[in-house]
Amino acid sequence: MARERLYLFDTTLRDGAQTNGVDFTLADKLAIASMLDELGVDYVEGGYPGANPTDTELFAAPRKLKTTFTAFGMTRRPGRSASNDPGLAMLLDAKADAICFVAKSWDYHVKVALETTLEENIASIRDSVRAAKAKGREVLLDCEHFFDGYKANPDYALACAKAAYEEGARWVVLCDTNGGALPHEVEEIVGAVVKAIPGDHVGIHAHNDTEQAVANSLAAVRAGARQIQGTLNGLGERCGNANLVSIIPTLKLKADYAGKFDIGVTDAGLHKLAHISHALDERLNRAPNRHAPYVGDSAFATKAGIHASAIMKDPATYEHVAPDTVGNKRKVLVSEQAGKSNVLAELERVGIKADKDDPRIGRLLDIVKEREAIGYAYEAADASFELLARRTLGAVPDYFDVTQFDVTVEQRYNAVGDRVTVAMAVVKVKVGDQSTISAAEGNGPVNALDQALRKDLGKYQKYIDGLSLSDFRVRILNSGTEAVTRVLIESEDENGERWTTIGVSPNIIDASFQALMDSIVFKLVKSKAPV
Ligand SMILES: [Zn+2]
Repeated sequence: MARERLYLFDTTLRDGAQTNGVDFTLADKLAIASMLDELGVDYVEGGYPGANPTDTELFAAPRKLKTTFTAFGMTRRPGRSASNDPGLAMLLDAKADAICFVAKSWDYHVKVALETTLEENIASIRDSVRAAKAKGREVLLDCEHFFDGYKANPDYALACAKAAYEEGARWVVLCDTNGGALPHEVEEIVGAVVKAIPGDHVGIHAHNDTEQAVANSLAAVRAGARQIQGTLNGLGERCGNANLVSIIPTLKLKADYAGKFDIGVTDAGLHKLAHISHALDERLNRAPNRHAPYVGDSAFATKAGIHASAIMKDPATYEHVAPDTVGNKRKVLVSEQAGKSNVLAELERVGIKADKDDPRIGRLLDIVKEREAIGYAYEAADASFELLARRTLGAVPDYFDVTQFDVTVEQRYNAVGDRVTVAMAVVKVKVGDQSTISAAEGNGPVNALDQALRKDLGKYQKYIDGLSLSDFRVRILNSGTEAVTRVLIESEDENGERWTTIGVSPNIIDASFQALMDSIVFKLVKSKAPV
């Protein structure tokens, strides 16, 4: 049976830009558009040309994209003609392959928010679609509040959608703008719509306010819709939009969808998914969600010993899809209840060959248990675990030695009388026979220590030049009588590879120092730096 084509429409740059705390620059938008293009998304909605300088520049910028680059904007204003609406003119003139109009389809909104008649709203839809078609653009219509509108007045909601389709809109997109619709309602309403408009002209735009945006998108597809709109990592205002990072692998890897539909994302594109998801977080300066389906760090992580031994025998026993299909990795967590099989599986994952009868494996397990009892959490710090394992197995060279460090924090008044806090660190490092002293200032003691430590590592400096800290997390643990500090540091190298290291101590500087040292040594091991 021939598979049907299902189209993906990304609105990260438009609806996703509404996310609290997200503010894309032009460079961000261009980079994200090309990631989406590389992934194989059919439509990328860039923003509102004419509405703000970034979006106007974005549409004017030269592009080399395969995707259908789409401009978003309003239909003509009520009471004006299409040729006499400056907003519409800007939209029509934008260098876009397609135009996605947004229009009201809930009678209540037309009357109360738009303050016009139901007929005038439909005339505005017709005129706008016609004007964009005349400009040679592919046209989409986002029917705002479609599901609420349909529940209130099905004939009117449908009349809005049909008006656009009849004027030649390629897609009529049913939007759950408030995000309150449930999957069975979406399936029922889309089922009714596709009786009037062919499903291969119907799209779904779901918001996640009941955490069912992905389920609602799939429900719409089951009912006949053939375009899904969503965003990377589910970005979007309030609770976000439908998450394409979850939808794409579901469509590619689950038999019910993979058997029926083709999408523009190839197997090779799918393989880049985890990377693209993390790269977006990186741009937004957010730590990726460890528990994100398919692409999260914990998505294929297993803890209990008995599961770990089964996974070693046959991964399919505990995994719903193979982690590498989406560019993720299997991970067996080393934790307090870890058995030997966990440690062996983890060693295998990080590429350390070990014999299960080697007595050093038992010793490693004992050390892990001891350290976890005082606050270390190796399941959150894979790089520190790898170093510990390699050290126990005798495979980490002594690259350098920090013989002394000193950190001071000073509060004073600067020249203009403002109170400032300045931190300074001095580090004495021995590399081979050579001793060096480096000093650095930082915005805090840990930052100063990090700067000083990475300033001059002699012959190893070139290996750590691309190293940067991407996240720093501190937790105070109350174990027994005294509080200890656990520091987790996430580092990144010039290739975008990330790893996490850990330090635990009653003293935050000491805990940070341990984590920083592990991060640098890990980078040297990874780079195979010669001793
Ligand atoms: Zn939306």
